[in-house]
Amino acid sequence: MTKPKIYLSSPHMGGNEIGYVNEAFDTNWIAPLGPNVNGFETDISTYLSGRKETYAAALVSGTAALHLALKMMNVCAGDVVMVQSFTFCGTTNPVNYLDAEIVFIDSELDTWNMCPLALKNAFEVYKNKSVKAIMPVHLYGMPAKMNEIQNIADQYGVPIIEDAAEALGSHYRAQNCGTFGEIAALSFNGNKIITSSGGGALVSKNKNYIDEALFLATQARDNALHYQHSQVGYNYRMSNVVAGIGRGQMEVLDERVAQRRDNNQRYREFFSDVDGITFQTEPDSDYFSNYWLTAILIDPQLTVGITRDDVQLALKAENIESRPLWKPMHMQPVHEGTKFFGTGVCEQLFEKGLCLPSGSNLTVKEFDRIFSALSIIFKK
Ligand SMILES: *Cc1c(COP(=O)(O)O)cnc(C)c1O
Repeated sequence: MTKPKIYLSSPHMGGNEIGYVNEAFDTNWIAPLGPNVNGFETDISTYLSGRKETYAAALVSGTAALHLALKMMNVCAGDVVMVQSFTFCGTTNPVNYLDAEIVFIDSELDTWNMCPLALKNAFEVYKNKSVKAIMPVHLYGMPAKMNEIQNIADQYGVPIIEDAAEALGSHYRAQNCGTFGEIAALSFNGNKIITSSGGGALVSKNKNYIDEALFLATQARDNALHYQHSQVGYNYRMSNVVAGIGRGQMEVLDERVAQRRDNNQRYREFFSDVDGITFQTEPDSDYFSNYWLTAILIDPQLTVGITRDDVQLALKAENIESRPLWKPMHMQPVHEGTKFFGTGVCEQLFEKGLCLPSGSNLTVKEFDRIFSALSIIFKK
């Protein structure tokens, strides 16, 4: 008999989700609007707001949120967008929906996110082009070097679209991820730190962007008695049933962050006496990662030949899911020929990197299985 599967990151309900969902059924708010949608948006804004109020629009996905973020920054066909190459395709696909030109930016070794130096080099080459946005990502929850990226953005007068899909609950210099730059996207997909079973949010301090995005997200319907349209719209609004799950999840978000950070700590202790393993790590106390996924680098020169693939396959044999780091988007066939600025840091990270099971609901027994499988591989 095969052992039950241990997932990389599976949904973890808090308990109150079903109450909000039942409320939607009891009141027949089974629609892409309603009290749960409004409540979820308020919860998100309240969570993120610091010195300045943040507004949120709940949408069908993080990808949809990024699509509308690009629309709000007026990205059109032929415009240039500078995008972190080391990311999931949800960051890049919306740029392609708009037929804009992607310029890929390398990562740096401290956070594994957008390298300010490579970004600067890209601007030197593209300064006379129509660069409409910069898209950094907080990979696996680790905040990017937002201070330096913001300085470059300010210098060239180009707005930042922050992909905070993996970083809800993370912060940098006491400011929440999702509140940097002009506009940001969150994701509540099934494997994220909290989930609404699928969904996303667009967030910004500028209420006009959120209002305009909501208009586009509901088929761009003009104010008239009949259905009148002067723009092309989208059907991107979150359902009231799904938003109920999101509301319940917001109540346990901080607990989920603490659990993921505990997982990270456990792996660090396990690997503390193993050569050749390093972690994605907060560079200093400015950075606070939700450690959505614990990510390690495996250096075969120091592990006496054990590679990333060896570890992934050995875990798979025990029905334990792990996943290589995102394959850089500039290496993806779909983006062949796209410009890339950097020295290949993200390529090296991809080659050696693995995400370990990181769910907030992992049990002690499951950790025992994970560690015994790892002990065999690493002869511990
Ligand atoms: C998950 C994710 C997205 C997309 O979010 P969806 O809700 O799955 O559409 C975008 N960017 C990154 C970095 C992600 O991890």
